[in-house]
Amino acid sequence: MTTMKSEVVDGFRAALRGPVLLPGDPDYDAARMVWNAMIERRPALIARCCGTADVMTALSFARMHGLPLAVRGGGHNIAGNAVCDDGLVIDLSLMRSVHVDPEARLATAEGGALLSDLDHETQAFGLAVPLGINSTTGVAGLTLGGGFGWLSRAYGLAVDNLVGAEIVTADGQLRRIGPRQEPDLFWAIRGGGGNYGVVTRFEYALHEVGPVVSAGLVVFPATEGREVMRRYRDLAGTLPDEVSIWAVLRKAPPLPFLPPEVHGSDMVALALCSPLPLEAVEPFVDMVRGFGTVLGEHVGPMPYTAWQKAFDPLLAPGARNYWKSHNFTQLSDDALDVVLRYAASVPSPHCEIFLALIGGRANEPAPDATAYPHRDIQFAMNVHGRWTEAADDARCMAWAREFFAAAAPHAAGSVYINFLTQDEGSRIREAYGGNYDRLVAVKQRYDPDNLFCFNHNIRPDS
Ligand SMILES: Cc1cc2nc3c(=O)[nH]c(=O)nc-3n(C[C@H](O)[C@H](O)[C@H](O)COP(=O)(O)OP(=O)(O)OC[C@H]3O[C@@H](n4cnc5c(N)ncnc54)[C@H](O)[C@@H]3O)c2cc1C
Repeated sequence: MTTMKSEVVDGFRAALRGPVLLPGDPDYDAARMVWNAMIERRPALIARCCGTADVMTALSFARMHGLPLAVRGGGHNIAGNAVCDDGLVIDLSLMRSVHVDPEARLATAEGGALLSDLDHETQAFGLAVPLGINSTTGVAGLTLGGGFGWLSRAYGLAVDNLVGAEIVTADGQLRRIGPRQEPDLFWAIRGGGGNYGVVTRFEYALHEVGPVVSAGLVVFPATEGREVMRRYRDLAGTLPDEVSIWAVLRKAPPLPFLPPEVHGSDMVALALCSPLPLEAVEPFVDMVRGFGTVLGEHVGPMPYTAWQKAFDPLLAPGARNYWKSHNFTQLSDDALDVVLRYAASVPSPHCEIFLALIGGRANEPAPDATAYPHRDIQFAMNVHGRWTEAADDARCMAWAREFFAAAAPHAAGSVYINFLTQDEGSRIREAYGGNYDRLVAVKQRYDPDNLFCFNHNIRPDS
């Protein structure tokens, strides 16, 4: 553990508006925890920044003292890159302000805002940015990797709606960037993760959504999974961009609309969300109902902010998590058979398989329009290995790895950067495809010493 003279630490504390936490401080242990309980790191200092000035000061402190530097947005990343051992964490969790200009249809969000913060403020005006499906995720990490969710087929990825940002780069400068201001850097942060600096402010274009949307779940028994999944795959290819349906395979949680005897049994749930009114979506819901024996359903008009939180209880922080992910341009029958085979052998009742339907407007930009390159992907599959006891680590990780290997021959050979775990550094190139070399060139220009290396790292010398 780095030990610093107390006068150095006192000087650092005095220079910031926000608190600086050290081991032994009452809030230190809570502040070093991230969403994934498998990540156990002990930073030397955690700087809870209250604004851009704090971020600039903390960054120059890390440089001056040669400290490893990590940046924390929402702390959700599965790889745990928001914290480092023995270094300084720039913690943005006190920077969660969001400002909406309803007339200009623009919103700005500070670098530590969560999806729930941005949704809450934009929905007051019936507006939204396409974000992810778990409201406690950080806006920053999600956007910097690409960002897709229920609205992405209709309105693109989070990065497709980013119109500007403020970023503190490795040289300590605050830069205002956009399509015409430092366009290479603006291109790189739209998918290139935290490699290029600390983003203190994101600016998004907004769309009219809600506040009430059509959403819900239809649940089938896994015994009918083959038929349900094949018919789902076929329907998915014909859906309008405004309708999203994702598949979730897992043990049935005790949802109030499921009969008690179903709880804990293997299920296939089709989750639907659309900004269209229910009468426009009902024909698709009817088709879904015809896929098999409906064990229970809860579909109807509901507040968009409520739907954005619907999966939060299943994805709460504090569990041990190991993910494996594949992109698919199409889901063959063989691919679906692999999915169903492994869904039938989950090693813990908390494990699940998510098939996110993307496509639609998320696939309209050219692959090199933003650093996020996957504009031909129809489905992203995320194998959520999730359990509670460390003793189960090896067993649960083995299941996820075997599943991943069995599915690989059917997959596109690419992956979403935001779903990579810490042991998947070798897949970073795969995650950027043809955009990798340009990302390296931008890294060389803005962070030649690789100050920002606690991320899925794009090395300046690679
Ligand atoms: C339960 C769950 C559900 C998810 N669902 C979705 C989904 O529906 N769609 C989707 O696209 N993704 C989803 N993700 C993935 C998610 O997008 C990534 O985990 C993302 O990195 C989380 O961002 P964060 O700010 O919370 O993470 P953090 O762990 O805080 O940060 C992630 C990375 O970004 C860097 N970073 C964070 N803030 C900043 C900043 N302000 N400036 C510069 N760098 C920064 C960090 O250093 C780190 O490298 C989900 C993740 C989880 C755990």
